[in-house]
Amino acid sequence: MRILLLLVVALAVALAACEGPTMPPALLGDLYEFRLPTTPVQVLRWESGARVRIHVTPSTGARAGVLEGALARALVVWNREALYGEYELVQVASLNDADVVVRWSDEVPPVDMSECPPDVSRAVTTFCLDESGDHLEPFPHTGGTNSVRMVVSVLGSEAARADRVERLVAHELGHVLGIARHSLDAGDLMYGGELTRATLSTRDAATIRVLYHTRPDITP
Ligand SMILES: [Zn+2]
Repeated sequence: MRILLLLVVALAVALAACEGPTMPPALLGDLYEFRLPTTPVQVLRWESGARVRIHVTPSTGARAGVLEGALARALVVWNREALYGEYELVQVASLNDADVVVRWSDEVPPVDMSECPPDVSRAVTTFCLDESGDHLEPFPHTGGTNSVRMVVSVLGSEAARADRVERLVAHELGHVLGIARHSLDAGDLMYGGELTRATLSTRDAATIRVLYHTRPDITP
């Protein structure tokens, strides 16, 4: 019998349920804890050189293009830290080509999330481990190859605030890349409370660089 482990990394509004960092104190000034809070802790990241394909579920009306615009800007801020091609985030037009889906929380997801449902939050990145525990389980969907292994859900009621959506999507892409915790510093993009930026701080940049030079335990 397959047992799916649900791992949700949520941006809580006020009470971020974060554990304290367990990095050596000497490193705390430069980066923050990024490992999955499993027992023991595990490093999740894409294989070095991975091209991570992200698809936005199309919306209509006033929402049309809001997530696409936020994603386009977020791709730039994260990709410019991959100085040696450690990863590349790209937007793809088709769900069938996607590793990651970005969607509004109040619209029907394009993949079957019943085995691995999203939590309710302002924004959340959802993924499940497969039986091996070394990789992520694809979300099933009809009509193509099932390669979607992460779903980013942004609360639909945020749609009217494009600036906030931009910060939320940029933050969630940090989780997509494998930063599985929150910073305790309000000046960081990966802070667990109200976000103040849509770009990387020096600590965000240091953290993603160290993550992509740390051997992963789990690769999507
Ligand atoms: Zn978060």
